[in-house]
Formats: sequence, structure tokens, C-alpha cells
Amino acid sequence: MIVTAPGWKPDKPLFAAAERAGVPVWGDVELAWRLRGPDAAPWLAVTGTNGKTTTVQMLASILKAAGLRTAAVGNIGVSLLDAVLGEERYDVLAVELSSYQLHWAPSLRAHSAAVLNLAPDHLDWHGSMEAYAADKGRIYEGNSVACVYNAADKATEDLVREADVEEGCRAIGFTLGTPGPSQLGVVEGILVDRAFVENRQKNAQELAEVADVNPPAPHNIANALAAAALARAYGVPAKAVRDGLRAFTPDAHRIAHVADVDGVAYVDDSKATNTHAAEASLAAYESIVWIAGGLAKGATFDELVTKSAPRLRGAVLIGADRALIREALARHAPEVPVVDLDRTDTGAMRAAVQEARRLAQAGDTVLLAPACASMDMFANYNKRGDAFADAVRELGSADG
Ligand code: ADP
Repeated sequence: MIVTAPGWKPDKPLFAAAERAGVPVWGDVELAWRLRGPDAAPWLAVTGTNGKTTTVQMLASILKAAGLRTAAVGNIGVSLLDAVLGEERYDVLAVELSSYQLHWAPSLRAHSAAVLNLAPDHLDWHGSMEAYAADKGRIYEGNSVACVYNAADKATEDLVREADVEEGCRAIGFTLGTPGPSQLGVVEGILVDRAFVENRQKNAQELAEVADVNPPAPHNIANALAAAALARAYGVPAKAVRDGLRAFTPDAHRIAHVADVDGVAYVDDSKATNTHAAEASLAAYESIVWIAGGLAKGATFDELVTKSAPRLRGAVLIGADRALIREALARHAPEVPVVDLDRTDTGAMRAAVQEARRLAQAGDTVLLAPACASMDMFANYNKRGDAFADAVRELGSADG
């Protein structure tokens, strides 16, 4: 058999030859599942175009708050092979899965799983949006307790409908509005659960306050609800959801507040490496000077710019594919002032921050949400975010 690294494209001639010869091809997740998956611990699995890491970490934090032995594993640093074969014993695993990993894991059967959202990404690898969605949808196959979907993203609900699940497995939605039956949602600033109520007399159970979610941006509240749904499917009490969310701090470069300078907030969302992520972070602020650009990976920017234009005080563009963003801004938001830095050197970030400062007014947010990958200018998104934070600190210290 062949065990492939997940990044290998399925159209490699080797895989076609393997299929012809009847040689199975597994990814590391499939291997972990077949070796010990079901025996090691039940899997609560998460995929989606954006928010996977955050949601899985929130989930692990909630499960820990309930006193369970658990870890965030998978596409997040600790491999599934290490998790299921290592010394450590777990009650339950919080598993992040990428679309690549799901493609190569045909027999995986989770306890419960969530698809957070679906937007075009990695289409060069999957070949089409349909193939990408189908690979994400594998996460629901054979679920035994709950399939968690995003009520605001119909494509995720469609995947639940198409999945072949165990008898008794329920579809559970999450919404930023008032939840319907079998949903978790938000009512007057409170995260509530109508799907897994402990007391049959009540029709909703309070889980946490919006202010318990860090940061309380709309997309992140959606992540918290998805994590809560999976934890509740596993039987965790409402109180652990609140305690776990309070104990959670997001990883670096995900809507990280760096500093305030002259009444302007500087926020690093370098991890917004595609348009769907950037749209979510731009939606979290009212008046923004946007720093964007990098490698577009075949994306188009019209929808992002159209939706975000009313919030833009200005834009500063850097990186290889910045012209695509500049042109979209010219088409849909000609009134927004744009500084095109025409630079791809590492020092461009410092110049970008200085330009952003000139455009910003007190009360604004300067937001690094590039909507692009970083590799034209930086080794990775961490380095890009660090360069932004360094430049912001320089501004602050120059002020003395
Ligand atoms: P992933 O592991 O899927 O890449 P992360 O949790 O690391 O996701 O978040 C990556 C970026 O995606 C964040 O910096 C933010 O810009 C954006 N993001 C996070 N959650 C969501 C969401 N639910 N919907 C849209 N964008 C999101």
C-alpha cells in the first residue's frame, strides 16, 4: 500500500497506477484510524475553509474544563498517529482535519463532526469546488452522534444531508441569530443551546456570554458555537462551555490586538490568507485602514471588496498580486483612498504600517488581513504578522 503525505495532489500518475493495480492509498489520518482510531478515544472532528484551528482549540479547552483527558490534534501540530499510538491516554480527541487529510481518509468514522464553512480555497489541489466540498463532506460519513453544520452556510447543511450516518445521529445547526429547534445560537448577547437541553422543561440552555469569547468577533462566536455543539454532543455540561471559552486564548496572528497608537487600534490577522477569512475579519470592525496583498492563489477580490467597501477608510497594498486588489477597489470602491506600495521586499511591511498611520483617524482600526498567502515576501504568515507587529511597536516607541 501507499501512505501519502496529505499535500500530494490526487492526480499524480503514481496514484492512478496504484488504483489500476489495486494498491490502496492512505493518508496519515487513515493510517491512524485503522491502527487504533476507534479504540484510542472517540473523535470530535472539525473541518471548514476557515476557523478550524481556533475551533478545535476552543473545543479542547471546553473538554478540559469538563475534567476530560483530551488534546487538540490532527492538522494542528500533534499528528493523529502520535495521538493514538503515544503513551498518553485520552477520553476524547479534538481533531482538526484539512480537506487534503479527509481526501485520503475514506474509512474514518467520527463520534461527531463539524464543517464550519465552505468557500473556494485550494481548488488547484482538489480540481473543482465540487471535489473540495465532497472531500470536506467526508468528515460526516458514519458519524454516530451529531453532524454539526453552519445554518448561515447552506453548503454545509447540504453536506450533512448527503452523508451516510449511523442511525440516531442528529443534524445540529449553529447560528449567530435566535436558534431554531436542534440549533445553538445567540439571544441577547447569550450563547444558548436548544439542541442538547439538560432540563426538558426549558427550551434553551444558557452556555456563555458573547463577552466570554476571545475575541468576540462574529466569526469567532460562530467558532465558539460549533465547539460548544461538539462538546455538548459528547455530553459536556453547559458550565464547562463557559469555563472552557473563558480559559481559551487564540493563537498568534489571528485577530491579535497589537497596540493602540494615537487612538488607532492595530490588529494583526496575518492568518487571513484567503478572501473568506479576510471578509470575516473586516466585518468585525467599523472603520478600517486595510493592509492587504501577497499571493492570491487564483482568488478574485470583487466580492470581498464590494462587501467590505463601506467599512474602509483606506487601503495599503503590498505584495506580488496587489494589482488584483487595486483593480477590484477601483471597480467597486473608487472613493476609497489606496496606497499601492509596489514593493515585495520584507521592509515593505514597515512602510505599509507608516502609510496606514497617515490614512487612519482616531477610533479607526489598522487591520492586517492580507486575503493572500505570504510566501512572496515572507517565509510564512507568522513572519508576516511579526513584521507588522514590529513596525507597529516602532510607531509607538517613536512617539516616546
Ligand atoms: P484554519 O485553521 O481553518 O486556517 P484559524 O482558526 O487558524 O483557521 O483562523 C484562520 C483565519 O480565518 C483567522 O485569522 C480569521 O481571519 C479567519 N477565520 C477564523 N474563523 C473564521 C470563520 N468561522 N469564518 C471565516 N473566517 C474565519
